Amino acid sequence: VAHWVPELLSPGGSYEKARIALDYGADAIYIAGQKFGLRTAADNFTPDEMREIVEHAHAHQRLVYVVLNSFLYDQDLEELPEFLSLLEELQVDALIVSDLGVIKTIQQYCTRPVHLSTQASCLNIESALFWKKMGVTRLVLGRETSLEEARLIKEATGLEIEMFIHGSMCMAYSGNCVISNYTQGRDSNRGGCAHSCRFDYSLDFNLMNVSKSARSFFMSSKDLEGLSLLPEFIKAGIDSLKVEGRMKSPHYAGTVSKVYSEALDFFRQHGVEGNLHLGPEYQAKLKKWKRELESMAGRDATTASLVTKANEDSIFDNRDHKTSEVKVAALVIETLGETELIAQVRHAFESTHHLELMPFEGENIPFPASEVKSLTGQPITRTKPGMLVRLPMIAGAKARQLIRQVVEVSP
Ligand code: SF4
Repeated sequence: VAHWVPELLSPGGSYEKARIALDYGADAIYIAGQKFGLRTAADNFTPDEMREIVEHAHAHQRLVYVVLNSFLYDQDLEELPEFLSLLEELQVDALIVSDLGVIKTIQQYCTRPVHLSTQASCLNIESALFWKKMGVTRLVLGRETSLEEARLIKEATGLEIEMFIHGSMCMAYSGNCVISNYTQGRDSNRGGCAHSCRFDYSLDFNLMNVSKSARSFFMSSKDLEGLSLLPEFIKAGIDSLKVEGRMKSPHYAGTVSKVYSEALDFFRQHGVEGNLHLGPEYQAKLKKWKRELESMAGRDATTASLVTKANEDSIFDNRDHKTSEVKVAALVIETLGETELIAQVRHAFESTHHLELMPFEGENIPFPASEVKSLTGQPITRTKPGMLVRLPMIAGAKARQLIRQVVEVSP
């Protein structure tokens, strides 16, 4: 018997990243069109790409949500109905919205369900009931909400609840911040956040009433990593677990989707009741998954506000201690019959390096980079990004699988 587990919702920052996230196990993806969704620099979807990804996802029983969470001015609202009629035609599974004017416009032009964006910072039952009255069917709770608070909001409102489980944190109330406006002339509430909070600021100790030991990365948050709390998310009945990161790499989209979907599969198979996850089998897997997540991260992780409230421990100021252990060397483009693969190089590697194929499910398969040849079959000593290469077939390899380079890190 399969046990109930929440949906895994991964970022689809571009068509390629969305396909990779779905292939590596995401149940749903969130994407943006070329307007109205935060992350102006993201490789957002054209109408044709949107149509293609929705058709692909629906054919595989997966869902696609479209982000419309910029705060809009009146002139922006005028352009919205045309986009809404496209989303209606494509039958996308929901729209993620933060602005009341946008919700009202959607209700005039579109029948798709509305999810309240985390940008609206819904943190309490009264606010949740208000949004329910406005026709919202799901709340993406603010990252400041604890699991226990989320459980109570769900119980009191009967609404679907979505919570962030992994990714970057914002030290403001989810994007309600203008630091990037001041430092870079970019507006966070219109997709322009430059992560200015993570910069190294120097303090004039004479002017400020702080001790000499005050750290200069005082606004830079650690990343959220809720993997170890999965059983608690399941017990609380949280409907959807969201991974932050539309701007992050295909490597990130694939790895995070794979790790969390494997962990959710464990609970789908075994449930949470028998506490099997406390036993050695799950604990060994958890250790491996955490290593995978940490190998990509540029900063320390925390469970953030899921258990306690953000505090001094949520600040990341240890710049030097971590170097990525794996990087994407190439992406499989196609398989040539049963004997060869064509891959595209993403980060240059050399023939002396060690590579591994990351299948959609199961263990990585190591192989020496010396097996990689040019398209014409010549040996290569050093590859270049963008270059197409061929290599002998690896059992189970498929298009869009990642080939990674294991990089030594000095302690
Ligand atoms: S600069 Fe930092 S605090 Fe401000 S919106 Fe961006 S991530 Fe959030």
